[in-house]
This record gives sequence, C-alpha cells and structure tokens, in this order.
Amino acid sequence: MCYPSRRMSAINLLDLLPTELESLAETLGAPRYRGRQIGNWIYRKGVSEIDAMSDLPRDLRRSLDERAFIGVPAIERRTPSQDGSEKIVFRLDDGARVQSVLMPDADRLTLCVSTQVGCGFACAFCYTGTMGLERNLGAGEIVGQVLGAARTLEPGRRLTHIVYMGMGEPLANYQATVTSLRLLTDPLALGFSPRRVTVSTVGLVGGIERLAKENLRVNLAISLHATSNEIRDRIMPVNKGFAIEELLAACRRFPLPFRQRMTFEYVLLDGVNDRPEDARRLVRLLKGIRAKVNLIPFNDWEGADFARPPLPRVLGFQSVLLEHGITATVRWSKGEDIGAACGQLREAVPA
Ligand code: SAH
Repeated sequence: MCYPSRRMSAINLLDLLPTELESLAETLGAPRYRGRQIGNWIYRKGVSEIDAMSDLPRDLRRSLDERAFIGVPAIERRTPSQDGSEKIVFRLDDGARVQSVLMPDADRLTLCVSTQVGCGFACAFCYTGTMGLERNLGAGEIVGQVLGAARTLEPGRRLTHIVYMGMGEPLANYQATVTSLRLLTDPLALGFSPRRVTVSTVGLVGGIERLAKENLRVNLAISLHATSNEIRDRIMPVNKGFAIEELLAACRRFPLPFRQRMTFEYVLLDGVNDRPEDARRLVRLLKGIRAKVNLIPFNDWEGADFARPPLPRVLGFQSVLLEHGITATVRWSKGEDIGAACGQLREAVPA
C-alpha cells in the first residue's frame, strides 16, 4: 500500500525518538500521549501498518498514514550458517542492500547491524572496504534491522545484544548512529540495557570525543589492529589522520561507566602484526586503560592479500596478553561459511 515515491517523502516513524512521536501526535492535533501509544505499537507490539494501531482514533490513524510509515526494511534473503548464525540481507527503500548477522551463543542472541551501505575507510584486510561508501543509513534504517531481525525469531526467542559491527563506520554516520542508539536504549522504544549494546569504530578521534559527551553508556570497541603507526598506516589508511597515540589518548579520556571496559579489536594477520613483540607492544600501549582485547584471526576472502596465522601463533599472541593481566579472547568469527564473518560483508550493487 505504500508507494516508493510516497515513502521517499514521508516520515519514517523509526527515525523519531519517543518524544518526537509525541510532538508528531500534537502536530496532528492529538494529545501527546497518543505518541506514546504509537511507540508502543511499533516497539512493543511490532506492527508494521499504522492502520493496525486500533486504540488510536480513526482520524488520527488516517492523518498519520498520509504522512508517515513504519520503515522496517524488507528481508531479501536469509542464509543460515553451519554454526547457527544467520546472515540477513535487507533491501532498503531505494533498492540498496545491507546485511545484518544473527549470532546465537549460549544464552545470548546477538545481532550485528550495519550503519552504512558500504564503507569508505578501505582497511586493507576488509572485504566491505572494497565496496567503497555508497551512502549513510538513517537512524530508522539501523533500528529497522533490529525490528526486522526480531520478527524472524521463533516465539519466545529474543535478541539480547546488539553490536554495531556490520557494514560501515558508525562514527562516520554520527547523528544517525547516536539517534539509533537512543532508540535502542530508550525504555519507551526498544529498551535494551546500554551494557548490551556495543559500537565499534575504526578509530575516529573526533567521533569518540563527541560520543563521550552523549551519556549513552553503551560499550565502545576500537578496531586497533596494529601496534605501530608504520603497520597501522599500511593496513588502515585512517591511521594517517589519527595516529595510534592520539587515538589511545582519546580512549583514555573516554568516560567509561563503572565496571565497564573498552574493547580493542585486533585482527591477526599472518606475518604482519602477529609477532610476540607486537603483543608485548600492545600490552604497553594499553597501560592505564580498562581494556579487554578481542583477537580476530583473519577471515579470508577472494583476492585478499592476507592470511590467517597458524593456530599456535594465535594462541601465543593471546598468552602474552594474558600473562600481563590483559583479558584477551579469541573471536572465532561466526558465519564464515556464508560470508557473514567480520569483514566479509559485501553486497552487489543493485542493477
Ligand atoms: N567500521 C567499524 C565497524 C566494523 S566492525 C570498525 O572498523 O570497527 C568489523 C570488525 O571486523 C572490525 O574490527 C574490522 O576491522 C574487522 N575485520 C574487517 N575485516 C576483517 C577480516 N577479513 N577478518 C577479521 N576481521 C575483520
């Protein structure tokens, strides 16, 4: 019933914070509490049609329907992996596609969401980076992935954690990322505990500093991946703008909530950044930061110039960190067989 041309100009209700839904109700001549009811229908009851909001007066439903829609993106494809994870390809209103990954693990069910179509940072080891940046997602398109993925779950199953680790750089799409984080954590919207939400960044210092002032209390993960500027420059062009020292200084200043730690991601690339001396340098760099390290053995893709280090090297790197009292886990990525592992997300550009 929604024509694309109309949807392009209409308001996506998923772009609006709960208070903005209240203001919208007011604009339409209804009391503010009607906005709360609308939020309730969207986030508690999961409806996708305004007409289904049966406790709203008919007139209000009609005027809302003329101006707005609930933009949960359509699912184009779902690909289950051998390991229980699942890749979901969403088709956005303009035909662009983004991917999310569902990752069950013991009593957790994590959804990894995208913040951009493609990515402009061109990390040398990342397949998504080969796409270049097509466009930013709106806040509603980020939240829409959460609502869309939740709808695929069997009754009784629910998402427990959200990570911003899909396609794109969250802090390069700053405003939409922050609005989507507010929607995720607002009790009147999705209501996730901020401790269960993690934003990962390539290391944009300005963005980290802005985020520090938002009082969102979500977890922050930094894609560090190297311990010298020489190597980081080589594998992450962003480092030429913000050197490691500057990045870590911003991390030190970041106001971490009580008992929360900052995550440092470190992709292990054979012969590039995986020597014991790299591990020792990492220990020194992280001094004074409440940090934990997530080691990600490189996930291969066709045409990549890198390889995954042999297992003993991965474990050797980890044990240097552990010996120095740094919590370090090895993240054996999920969904490798379906191209859904870290850094493997890429979609063909629509014809
Ligand atoms: N742009 C953000 C969010 C992406 S998160 C960021 O850079 O943090 C995806 C994580 O997977 C990042 O840490 C990224 O560096 C890492 N990654 C990318 N390609 C990878 C690959 N081929 N193997 C393992 N990890 C990879």
